This record gives sequence, structure tokens and C-alpha cells, in this order.
Amino acid sequence: MSIVSLIKGESYDSSLLYHQIERSLENIRFDPTGLKGATVAVKPNLLTTAAPEKGITTHPEFLRAVIKFIKAYGGEPVLVECPAFIPLEKVLAKGGYMEILLEEKVRISDTKITANLRNESGVKYKYFHVAEDLVKADYIFNLPKLKTHSLTYFTGAVKNLFGSIHGLEKSKWHIRASSAPEFISFLLDLYGGWYYLQNQGTVHIMDGILGLEGEGPGASGKPKAANAIIAGYDAIAVDSVAIRVAGLDLKRSGVCIEGERRGYGFSSPDKITIAGNSLSDFSNSFVPPKSKSMVSAWPFNSPFFKNLLVEKPVPQPEKCTLCYQCRGICPANAIDKSSDGKVPSYDYSKCIRCYCCAEICPEAAIELKKGVVARLIG
Ligand code: SF4
Ligand code: SF4
Repeated sequence: MSIVSLIKGESYDSSLLYHQIERSLENIRFDPTGLKGATVAVKPNLLTTAAPEKGITTHPEFLRAVIKFIKAYGGEPVLVECPAFIPLEKVLAKGGYMEILLEEKVRISDTKITANLRNESGVKYKYFHVAEDLVKADYIFNLPKLKTHSLTYFTGAVKNLFGSIHGLEKSKWHIRASSAPEFISFLLDLYGGWYYLQNQGTVHIMDGILGLEGEGPGASGKPKAANAIIAGYDAIAVDSVAIRVAGLDLKRSGVCIEGERRGYGFSSPDKITIAGNSLSDFSNSFVPPKSKSMVSAWPFNSPFFKNLLVEKPVPQPEKCTLCYQCRGICPANAIDKSSDGKVPSYDYSKCIRCYCCAEICPEAAIELKKGVVARLIG
């Protein structure tokens, strides 16, 4: 059984948030006295430069409340985050995080310094280079955002730890694990590394006050309040509760279903004790991401079938500013300079449908268009 705290949180009022974080940790019987003198790696979701009201990133006031809590009990917080494309300093400055970190005198980790993380029981991958400060910390406070995800259906506590891998190294994993099932399996191999890192206390506290629905996790999704703060030691259980709080379909989360099968945690409702509010206190109905044809086996993963079946990313000229962030992040080198002066050129035979470009595009200019066959069969 896993215990998960679920409490109502309807605003980012900093004085309320501190007590809500405190209550969340009490609900999971976290002993804060252990924080005294401890190094605590704080890992928010800072995917890109986005205003807090976009629902893409962990809210700065949420981060502030967690930092204040750690410091109140004598811990030393260290901010650890590896945005995909944009330098961390820029993300921190634009999102309103930098002033909080300066006020609270929080060190910012240099995530180019990496350490090995091992998961001997990984199905395919057993070694990962991750931010050293996360591995060395006495505690990890993982602060995911509640969001839908075009590739993996949902992104929460498990997926947020993918941000332990530095910058564009992340997109290389999309090449190695290029279909949705392979990518989910990789995420769980990586999560297993954290799961087995026994010298740490890892706590997941999800910012589900304002979430994201539709084509998340970037600007193509739509902000939507879920009014929830969800916490626990078991990332899979935290994600399971978050999915149900959002009114999404737990069965469609490969991370939750396969994560429980591998023994990394519990996603089945009957194996999770919820402390605090109950699920019936929430009546959210988040719009899921468009259904993908999860074709991973030959011949369906060939360019021919892929173009017929799987949604492809198509940049829209009326929104595109030709900033080329999509080109910079594309792990398959499928995006080239514009040939028409309006949008970048896409080579769909190279595209592996990882949707990193849609995730990173600051203008929400990349729409996912169904393949011909998928359109015909609805
Ligand atoms: S599609 Fe988006 S990320 Fe790509 S160039 Fe246009 S605005 Fe930039
Ligand atoms: S074009 Fe977009 S979806 Fe295709 S491989 Fe590149 S980043 Fe991924």
C-alpha cells in the first residue's frame, strides 16, 4: 500500500501555500526534523520560459513555499533543473523564480556536472547520466506539475525526474526510445534508478492547483485548474491520484500501469490510501491529449505507415515566429530552415513523432494533424 496526501488548493496565495505544503507532508507522516543540516535538492518542472498562468511550469509561489518549509526545519535547499532547450538562468528570470531564489539564498545547481545513476533491473537501460546534485542530496523534493502529455498521456511525478538529464541530452533519449511504449519503458528504467537510490528520502509534491489539459505539456496545452496539491513517497501512486483528480483515464497511463507491474509503486486505487480530501471532492474533467496510434512494431513504425497513421507535427504560419527552437531540440534532425519564409521545413520520413518540437514551441504554433488513415477511420 502507498499513502498519498490529497488536499484542496485553489490559489497561489503564499501564506496559504506554506500551510498546505506542511499539511500535505503531515498527511504522509513525513518527519521534518530529519531536514536539519540536510541538503535538499528541489526539482520543479521548469520546462521552458512560460508565465505561471500558462499552467506549464511549477508555480513560483509553490516553489517558494516548499523552500521556506525546508529552511524552517534547518535544511539547505538546492535548486536542480535542466530545461530542455532554453538556458536555466533565462527560465528562472522570465518565470519569476530568480528573485525568490535570491531572496531565499538558494544555490542553483550546475546540472552539467553529472553522476551515474544505476538501475540494474532496468528492462533495457541500466545507466544514466543525471545531475550530480540530485544524486548527492540527502533528500529530493520533486515538484511536478499536473499536465496531460501528447506522447505519454500524462506527465507528473515520474516524468518530472526525466528533467534530471541535462538539456539536449534529453532529446537523444527520444531517439533511443522513439515510440511511446519505448519511451514510457525508458522513463520507468530511469525512475527505477531513483527508486533504488536508497540513501535518499524522495518526496513528490505535485502542483495541481493550475494544471494543463489537451496537447500538453507545453504551450499547445490549455491551462485548467485542478485545485489540488498531491504528495507522497511513491511517484506512481501520486500520478495515479493526480490522473483521477483530473478526471482522466488511469488505464491510459502506461507509466502508472507498467510502473506497478514492475514493482516500483502502486497505481491501483485499492492499493493507495488517500489522506486529506477524497477524490469525490473534485469534479474535474480534463481534456485528454489526442489519441495516438501507438504503433511501435514493424511495419507500422516505417515512415510509410507512420505518415498514414500517426499524428504529425505541423507548424502553423499564422503563429510561427521562425525562432527555430523546434529545430534546436529535434532529436531526429527532421527540421530544417524555412523554405517558404513562414515555417520551418519538416522531413516527416525522419520524424520519430516524439513531439519535442510541439512541447518546446513558445507560440503553440505546432498542431498535431492526424494521418490520412487515422482521419478516414475517425
Ligand atoms: S514552429 Fe514554434 S518553435 Fe518552431 S520556429 Fe515556429 S515558433 Fe519557433
Ligand atoms: S519533428 Fe518534432 S516530433 Fe518529429 S522528431 Fe523532430 S522534434 Fe520530434
